[in-house]
Amino acid sequence: MNYDYIVVGAGSAGCILAERLSASGKHSVLLLEAGGPDKSFWFKIPIGFAKLYYHTVYNWMYYSEPEPELADRKIYCPRGKVQGGSGSINAMIYVRGAQRDYDDWAAAGNPGWSYRDVLPYFRKLESHPLGDTQWHGADGPVRITPMKDGAHPICETFIEGAQQLGYERNEDFNGARLEGVGIYDVNTRNGRRDSSSVAYLHRAGHRPNLTIEHHAQATRVLFDAARRATGVEIEQQGKKRTFHANREVIVAAGAVDSPKLLQLSGVGPRALLDRHGIGLVHELPAVGQNLQDHLCVSFYYRARVKTLNDAFGSWVGKLQFGLQYLLTRKGPLSMSVNQSGGFFRTNPDETQPNMQIYFNPLSYRIPKSNRASLEPEPYSGFLIACNPCRPTSRGSVEIASARVEDAPLIRGNYLSTQKDRDEVMQGGRLVRQLMQAKALKDITVEEVSPAAAVTDDASMLQYFREQSGSIYHLCGTCAMGPDPQTAVVDARLRVHGIEGLRVVDASIFPNITSGNTNAAAMMVAEKGAAMILEDAGHGEDPFSHRPVRAGTQRAAAISS
Ligand SMILES: Cc1cc2nc3c(=O)[nH]c(=O)nc-3n(C[C@H](O)[C@H](O)[C@H](O)COP(=O)(O)OP(=O)(O)OC[C@H]3O[C@@H](n4cnc5c(N)ncnc54)[C@H](O)[C@@H]3O)c2cc1C
Repeated sequence: MNYDYIVVGAGSAGCILAERLSASGKHSVLLLEAGGPDKSFWFKIPIGFAKLYYHTVYNWMYYSEPEPELADRKIYCPRGKVQGGSGSINAMIYVRGAQRDYDDWAAAGNPGWSYRDVLPYFRKLESHPLGDTQWHGADGPVRITPMKDGAHPICETFIEGAQQLGYERNEDFNGARLEGVGIYDVNTRNGRRDSSSVAYLHRAGHRPNLTIEHHAQATRVLFDAARRATGVEIEQQGKKRTFHANREVIVAAGAVDSPKLLQLSGVGPRALLDRHGIGLVHELPAVGQNLQDHLCVSFYYRARVKTLNDAFGSWVGKLQFGLQYLLTRKGPLSMSVNQSGGFFRTNPDETQPNMQIYFNPLSYRIPKSNRASLEPEPYSGFLIACNPCRPTSRGSVEIASARVEDAPLIRGNYLSTQKDRDEVMQGGRLVRQLMQAKALKDITVEEVSPAAAVTDDASMLQYFREQSGSIYHLCGTCAMGPDPQTAVVDARLRVHGIEGLRVVDASIFPNITSGNTNAAAMMVAEKGAAMILEDAGHGEDPFSHRPVRAGTQRAAAISS
């Protein structure tokens, strides 16, 4: 079967691509998703996050290889395997990151990706209660909801404490500046998760020119002799099928599966493909390299005041919140568990915030076994977590075999640089410093952990080595950049050296953003879709910059 565009992966980025590319009605679009539809109740209710965290159907449940600097632990890397992708199972915190993150993307040789350039796409995707302003959009598909009206009261205590120490309150992390302490925004609408699937795809699903195939895992991209992507082969219910792309194949399978699919298709590091007996279509050493993520650790506290532990820990409390949610769509079930926090500088030499903090009005341990819920601690408690914003460690994603059913080898290489090791110690010190504020001391009985196990920098580093985990922001494995030796796609997200093939998802980030990555992944899709349509002759995208392609590597335009 023939389609103009084939999009692989209906995740945060893929749902937006499918909607935008099919909107004019002029192009036929096929969206391939390895998982099923997002129909379950748990995708709708924000607290469903806890149920989906270890879900064997809706989650790929990847693990890293043993991490040498993290006591050889395998780090859990959940990824959504469902329409909406990781955006259907995530914690919904909506943070764009620092303006400098994008300025650095542009400075790395990617014209059109500075913050000034990408801001219109952030504004385009969001519907923000502050309305149409310099920083926000009023009528985009994704509803942004500030949690400040419903956050647990001790979140205000946390902010008050930080202010007592001289940190400034920030009312809008997506506004003029990132730095400061405040309450996070989430992508929810009327108390329901507003993923890109809900916000974009649900309204487009009926279009005659858009076909969505679920349980359809792409096994390889197909090429002709001139190294042009011509289609995609999939496996669906044990059967192989192939689809032909008249115009382009767009890979949006996320930071783990996009590089995996390229490698299985013969695009990647030559030695890796040779090792697995995969015929080389085009050598691109950077496919799967440059993996970046945020590494996070939690500090647990016993409180003098009631927290969400008390309510979630009892059937009465659960019932009360359940009823509140059913009747009003409000209350803790309508929100993220990460309610407040902020962005801090841990040393005066930093010109930008380098540490993100989460203050959660409940404390829970992530079970070591794959239990499908996150149970609160059996006492009134809260937790503070921290992660460096821009780690310098780089990891990789590499196929383990030539079989699509085998999970790839994920190596985060967390804490492999001295800068990253220094920063986690600074992060731990910052948490402890915040807890010295009077407002926080007043509500705290004791630090439950790490407590006496951490008394100095060395034991703080050891705590990170033994207890830290991913905060699930994997990105960078098909990085954007001008040099095919170090990057996979160019500034228009076209795979270097291949015709008719783009990657459009979190894997194209050249460097990780300073905050949570979903907003950036959705922005990449908005901008990617605009560029694809522009290249197909749909007139110039009003926001786009058209960089001239370096060299004569290939013709600039896709045939229309
Ligand atoms: C548990 C969790 C919590 C998170 N919390 C937050 C948060 O609070 N805020 C935030 O900003 N970010 C958060 N993130 C990160 C954020 O959700 C991701 O950065 C973002 O969703 C990435 O989007 P993507 O489009 O690149 O990939 P994904 O959304 O992961 O989409 C990839 C899609 O491709 C599909 N796929 C993969 N391989 C194939 C194949 N071969 N064939 C067909 N389909 C395929 C997958 O099933 C998936 O649907 C969280 C992530 C997780 C997992």
